[in-house]
Amino acid sequence: MEFDHTAHPNPTSAARLEQILANPGFGTSFADHTAVIDWTAERGWANPRVEPYGPIALDPAASVLHYAQEIFEGMKAYRHDDGGIYTFRPLENARRLNRSAQRMALPELPEELFVASLEELVQTDRDWVPNGDGEALYLRPFMFASEAFLGVRAAREVSYRVIASPAGNYFGGELKPVRIWVTRDYIRAAPGGTGAAKTGGNYAGSLAAQQQATAQGCDQVLFLDPTRENAVEELGGMNVFLVTADNRLITPELTGTILEGITRASVIQLAKDRGMAVEERRVTLDEWGAGIADGSITEAFACGTAAVITPIGELVDGDRSIASAGTGEVTTSIREELLGIQTGTVEDRHGWMHQLA
Ligand SMILES: *Cc1c(COP(=O)(O)O)cnc(C)c1O
Repeated sequence: MEFDHTAHPNPTSAARLEQILANPGFGTSFADHTAVIDWTAERGWANPRVEPYGPIALDPAASVLHYAQEIFEGMKAYRHDDGGIYTFRPLENARRLNRSAQRMALPELPEELFVASLEELVQTDRDWVPNGDGEALYLRPFMFASEAFLGVRAAREVSYRVIASPAGNYFGGELKPVRIWVTRDYIRAAPGGTGAAKTGGNYAGSLAAQQQATAQGCDQVLFLDPTRENAVEELGGMNVFLVTADNRLITPELTGTILEGITRASVIQLAKDRGMAVEERRVTLDEWGAGIADGSITEAFACGTAAVITPIGELVDGDRSIASAGTGEVTTSIREELLGIQTGTVEDRHGWMHQLA
């Protein structure tokens, strides 16, 4: 299936684009185009194209607006010194999109169409890729039920799209440790639920907890599993790692309630490459607190595409505070290696980078 290459003008002036790229922020401005592929139960995927970016005409009865049948992905395109534009492990995103699709009863998108949609959009909007330190064009593929129908069943009409947004440093400024609020009032996911799917509803359900975190002066929320002795799960949109004094890495195992981060998998690989032992297992909040207190846990960090790797400075659990050491050496060094691979300054020995344009 070939993308339609009809040319479309760029509504954003060169001067305005320069202004946007000088200070990209996160998720506030959007590239001039969007990649689109339609799906119906009758004909499957059809009509792949690149269109001007703009509002979507949706019937008010579109089932995504009522029953939240929606999934998404998040990835970044980096401008390398060789002039090419590259993204990180896109086949992993394609596969995860399809696992999310299975869980949310949406159609699976062939992997090559997923990758082609990224290539087409980035080739069209290549001027939107910033080239500052740690900056990238954030790519947001998403799929939703567009059928106008109020009955409850999987939609027979679906839209897949990709939009792009220039991105600076996610938490703004330099690498500063974040303060994390431990929620005891809310959980993010449960066995058999949708926690492992990248679906909007998981985020909608995390917002009340995020509001509490913000009210407590924290940056993000940590979710626990109260049915497993307060096992650490993850943040609203990032996976969590602990570093031990004897050079081990500990991260919660994938039990079906945690999102399988591609950054998480890559951090595990890079740690193993350095000879670190990696433990994917249940880790409780008590173990975390006791480890910080007796010095056996020296660092904690969160990871995900948007912020890459962010040190966790402090956990706030009601009246109790668990402080970490700040930005530790292992966190900094893994972050530099991963960012180096992504931005093209460190050898890509696993073949993770894929040229888009
Ligand atoms: C997307 C996401 C992550 C991070 O996944 P990456 O592939 O590393 O970007 C972690 N947790 C949740 C809940 C997510 O939605």
